[in-house]
Amino acid sequence: MPIIKVHDKSFDTYLSEEVIQNRIKEMAAEISRDYAGKRPLFIAILNGSFMFAADLFKHLSINAEICFIKLASYKGMKSSGNVVTSIGLEDDLFGKDVVIVEDIVDTGKTLHNFLPKLLHQQPKSLKIASLLHKPEATEYPLQLDYIGFDIPNKFVVGYGLDYDGLGRNLKEIYQLV
Ligand code: 5GP
Repeated sequence: MPIIKVHDKSFDTYLSEEVIQNRIKEMAAEISRDYAGKRPLFIAILNGSFMFAADLFKHLSINAEICFIKLASYKGMKSSGNVVTSIGLEDDLFGKDVVIVEDIVDTGKTLHNFLPKLLHQQPKSLKIASLLHKPEATEYPLQLDYIGFDIPNKFVVGYGLDYDGLGRNLKEIYQLV
């Protein structure tokens, strides 16, 4: 598997495009079963989840809506700890079945800080779908309802995830060497 360079760092292929796509189809099938007869609202968290959200959404076989919000807590390769919202939520969540779509849950801080704001609007239900999860990095435990892959506590790029702005366009997911 090729090693690639993003800025000054080398990364190894970790999850191939085929492995990612197959897992997303499975997740979409599971979510479609769980929400049969309902019309969930997916809230995708930008920027990192845009590819995952698009691929997951297009494989759903139920009626569903999607919207996007922007939170940020990362600069470079470390979480800055601050979670800010720069694109707000337009939809009213009251009485809705909401599914949060994340690229990766690392310490859990981003969602830990954000969930109360959503719950405040009294959705009918709230679940979380994350493509990646680093169990060893958990500082803020969360119930993740749909997980694509549990991965080791190493920095990853590709498939929407960046290192200082670059690497999002890669079809595979790469791990820091
Ligand atoms: P948490 O708040 O759970 O610590 O981190 C969540 C956010 O940090 C993710 O949405 C993602 O933007 C970023 N993040 C966490 N781990 C990684 C990683 O390994 N690579 C990249 N590119 N971003 C990460």
